[in-house]
Amino acid sequence: MSETYPHIFTPLDLGFTTLKNRIIMGSMHTGLEDNSGNFSRLTQYFRERAENDVALIVTGGFAPNFAAWVKPFSGRVTNRTHVQRHTQFTNAVHEAGGKIALQILHAGRYGYHPFAVAPSAIKSPISPFRPWALSDRGVRNQIKHFVRCATLAREAGYDGVEIMGSEGYLINQFLVKRTNKRQDDWGGSLENRMRFAIEIVKQTRAAVGPDFILIYRLSLIDLVPDGQSWEEIVTLANRLEEAGVTIINSGIGWHEARIPTIATSVPRRAFTWLTKKLKQEITVPLVASNRINMPEVAENVLEDGSADLISMARPFLADPAFVRKAKANKREDINTCIACNQACLDHVFEQKIASCLVNPRACHETEIQINPAATIKRIAVVGAGPAGISCSTTLAERGHDVHLFEKDALIGGQLNMAKKIPGKEEFSEMLRYFTQRIKTTGVQLHLNTVVDAASLKQQDFDEIIIATGVVPRVPAIAGLDHPKVLSYIDVLRHEKPVGGKVAIIGAGGIGFDVAEYISEEPPSSTLDLESWLEEWGIADPEDFRSGLYKPQPKQLDSPREIYMMQRKSEKMGKGLGKTTGWIHRTTLKKRGVHMLRGVRYEEISDRGIRIRQGDGVEGSKWLDVDHVILCSGQLSLNDLTPDLTTDHYTPHVIGGAWKAGELDAKFAIDQGTRLALTL
Ligand code: NAP
Ligand code: SF4
Repeated sequence: MSETYPHIFTPLDLGFTTLKNRIIMGSMHTGLEDNSGNFSRLTQYFRERAENDVALIVTGGFAPNFAAWVKPFSGRVTNRTHVQRHTQFTNAVHEAGGKIALQILHAGRYGYHPFAVAPSAIKSPISPFRPWALSDRGVRNQIKHFVRCATLAREAGYDGVEIMGSEGYLINQFLVKRTNKRQDDWGGSLENRMRFAIEIVKQTRAAVGPDFILIYRLSLIDLVPDGQSWEEIVTLANRLEEAGVTIINSGIGWHEARIPTIATSVPRRAFTWLTKKLKQEITVPLVASNRINMPEVAENVLEDGSADLISMARPFLADPAFVRKAKANKREDINTCIACNQACLDHVFEQKIASCLVNPRACHETEIQINPAATIKRIAVVGAGPAGISCSTTLAERGHDVHLFEKDALIGGQLNMAKKIPGKEEFSEMLRYFTQRIKTTGVQLHLNTVVDAASLKQQDFDEIIIATGVVPRVPAIAGLDHPKVLSYIDVLRHEKPVGGKVAIIGAGGIGFDVAEYISEEPPSSTLDLESWLEEWGIADPEDFRSGLYKPQPKQLDSPREIYMMQRKSEKMGKGLGKTTGWIHRTTLKKRGVHMLRGVRYEEISDRGIRIRQGDGVEGSKWLDVDHVILCSGQLSLNDLTPDLTTDHYTPHVIGGAWKAGELDAKFAIDQGTRLALTL
């Protein structure tokens, strides 16, 4: 047993089988589930996590029939052919000493296709398709299909199934009057609304027998108007126990909720107060989830009695060896999920295969293989931002002799600014991991070292990689040399004082970051659960049905009056992440930030900034601000390539130095890692 994390590494006896520790890899849709041509990739993805001691893996959601699809042609388990295909997952996980459960997911009205069904024909706000209301026979058929799916899962060698009863999917839709307007046996009274969930569990248990893990994912807080009350949730949990569940997993919020539940600005373990509350009401093991991303957080949740098991999904994209490293007391070596959603959920929403910003190998294990180099080379990497670090550490891992040069006293480049933004504190973990990885891979790091082409040539490197990043773009506006003008670097890196009235030029990722930085007084609410819950209007569902205060959303204080501007007329923050952009927009609106689109910048002077938003005299106006902060994008910084290029040699250029428009950590890390595999 681990001395550092004794609770994590205490096995859990389920009566007919034992979980070797308390960590479940939670269900995470990767996109690999939807095409059996990708199943060998999915097998390798599962295998690596099982080999590294995850006790129980839950697959991404599989539909029990085609009406249940999340989108057309989603993965489903409905016949023997599917059983055969799935045995590769179960065999791989069992060979690696793990256990695996199939998640059965019925999207109901969230189905992004014309065959979607639901208790009532009420369209969800997040799908353009109005679902078909199920007939009584249709409801009974859906139950049969859940049961068939579980039976087939057992045939495929799964150790259990997880019935997805939360996040606003079909079963949740039956449970509340918001989406269930039926007047037959499946609607109206609580007893009737719960019947669908209970029948699924009861009939599944009868079909699969007693020695099969049956997890039910229960919504502990719906976070949508007219969701469940706490009393209803507890009643359902008790009835599910009677019906035969082995484990209750926790779900937080419906997908249509306008409250963040897993984004990086959500405090760690933000919802375990709810599992702690439910634990007193049930006897079967209970799983905590959402924003648990480090072993000490998991250990604390178990230690303080908030749950019996911990489910983590994205942390296993970030680091397949999370559990093994925790067991070996090497938490510093863990590549931490920073909850950015940029390569996992955002990819899935864009119909791409999931990956991970901090680990480009995630879901690409068969393609990105880090093997020893055939010929050991001496390699220089210039610039220790995300691109330079990922490249140099992968090169060193392959056995190369790598020298990483950084002009600053710190590694990390722009990440050092990102970590200061309220709600982005997790970026510190990325820097911690990078620092550790440089050490463990043996990269020779030269901080405070400016290199030029001549010095690089003198050192006779076999390869030179330029990862020198970007410089801020300076827009052409009259009065730009006025002392009121600051760059985002002045504000974020040099922490120059900022006045009470501020105009921000540019509303890209950095414009939003700066607006959040200057509109929130420290400490960040991400580090203070009570104020974060209050900020988003989240209440105890025992006091307020669904866990929502009224009215929503709550306006927040800001120490400044802020104007954020862009020249385009499109929605502000359109380029931000699909699953997180709305959170940034909502936060800034709540802080009263004025968002001005279609702006022309005319002049900066003692009066502030003169802008134009229309024709004629009336279209032009002064904003009497104390400071104007430039967040107008970036340009590549690379003055080394010309002098290093010869007839026989061209240096490699990566990250922002290669393409400033593509500058983001996801792209930089992926590009740096992939280049390292080719040298
Ligand atoms: P960006 O996303 O390209 O945004 C640049 C902003 O400056 C735009 O709003 C643009 O709007 C404006 N702009 C461009 N040229 C201008 C000019 N000549 N004069 C005045 N305004 C101009 O760049 P960024 O904000 O520097 O972000 C850089 C990268 O970091 C992006 O890839 C971004 O995804 C990433 N990042 C992301 C996040 C996040 O997702 N939260 C946070 C930080 C950074 P108009 O052209 O309409 O004026
Ligand atoms: Fe976590 Fe971001 Fe990786 Fe997704 S992309 S797993 S949120 S670090």
